[in-house]
Amino acid sequence: MRRGSGKVMVNEAQNANAAAVQAVQEVRPAEGSSLFPTYARYPIALVKGEGSWLWDDQGKKYLDFMCGLAVTNLGHAPKSVKAKLQEQLDQLWHVSNLFHIPNQEKLAGLLTSNSCADAVFLCNSGAEANEAAIKLARRYNSKVLCNVKYEVITFERSFHGRTLATLTATGQEKVKEGFHPLPQGFVSVPLGDLDALKDAITEHTGAIMLELIQAEGGVYPVDVEFVKAVRELCDERGILLIFDEIQTGMGRTGKLFAYEHYGVEPDIFTLAKGLGSGFPIGAMLAKAKLREAFSAGSHGSTFGGGPLATAAAIATVETMLEEHVAEQAAATGAYMIERLRTELAGNSFVIEVRGQGMIIAIECAEPVAKLVEEGQRQGLLFVTAGPNVIRLLPNLLLTREEADQGITILSSILTSTNAAAAVQP
Ligand SMILES: *Cc1c(COP(=O)(O)O)cnc(C)c1O
Repeated sequence: MRRGSGKVMVNEAQNANAAAVQAVQEVRPAEGSSLFPTYARYPIALVKGEGSWLWDDQGKKYLDFMCGLAVTNLGHAPKSVKAKLQEQLDQLWHVSNLFHIPNQEKLAGLLTSNSCADAVFLCNSGAEANEAAIKLARRYNSKVLCNVKYEVITFERSFHGRTLATLTATGQEKVKEGFHPLPQGFVSVPLGDLDALKDAITEHTGAIMLELIQAEGGVYPVDVEFVKAVRELCDERGILLIFDEIQTGMGRTGKLFAYEHYGVEPDIFTLAKGLGSGFPIGAMLAKAKLREAFSAGSHGSTFGGGPLATAAAIATVETMLEEHVAEQAAATGAYMIERLRTELAGNSFVIEVRGQGMIIAIECAEPVAKLVEEGQRQGLLFVTAGPNVIRLLPNLLLTREEADQGITILSSILTSTNAAAAVQP
């Protein structure tokens, strides 16, 4: 179901990207690959992106409802970020953290003045940000409070990253297979079960870490009352509260940070995905009392907070603030959820539409992997979150027209799936 006007755009893209297309075809191996097979890749090579749209090496155009997995929150190649990056490319690419990096100070100032945090550590990815959060929690307990509270409690179905510590923190067995022995001091409990959480607390518990919407795990928002109760519990028992906002941060849920929906502040929170508009950068942010837990040499990163990454992040944060991007995400997300519920009402293949802002799930009765491929055929990119859940992560500046285009494709796919399911014996 290609749109009629698509043809002209496709030809333009083909011409404009001839060089990029050729480069990709040259490096695509005819058979086999020199890469580790760590990803189950779709047979598509995307070579150009602009706003809500992507083009593959055949010139086919796609509406992007995944954003490289919640990364390109301002769309592909946003002008403001591109300009700052180009400016920085002309000045300086890399400098050691042994020197002051003005962009780092500026970004940290922007993040702290727009959040509950007072101190920032910059790194290169989500896993590294969570790793820094875990290290900070342990070191605050051991060096500042001088106790032995090293244990971190996380939740089942959570996802916190792929390093040894963060995969151990992750509440899913599949990411741990074959990697034992794992670091000690992690335990996972069912989400929303306050009694189980209380039971898991020991004299060694130093931190509780959670995602406010379990994203990879299936787009499950955490109950407000539960989050408030966890905060109270942490205060009573002297436990640090860490929010993993790697996917929910940077406007994704309709607020700059998801914790703003809850009326609860964490002691530490982490960011990465949307922070640099696609340029790799992660951040670990914390309250003032934690600042002195890290001293010179206690943590660091060669590339963390480099001039280019911080230029991209400064431009991203400034654009988000100036253009009220989170508010736009809240409005467009509410519109999309409402429209999806209306379009899919009565579709027995669809169990539920849920989400907040521009992280939206369509939970289905059966596995949805085939639907993702059908979406690609029809020019719409989206992902799953667990076997039966379609996850939509459009950019936060998506227009209503683009939202409607995507929803039309989705509802046609889900309608034919429902009809097909109905005729099966
Ligand atoms: C993606 C993600 C991570 C890991 O980020 P990487 O940059 O892939 O290391 C951690 N936590 C959450 C909630 C995520 O969505």
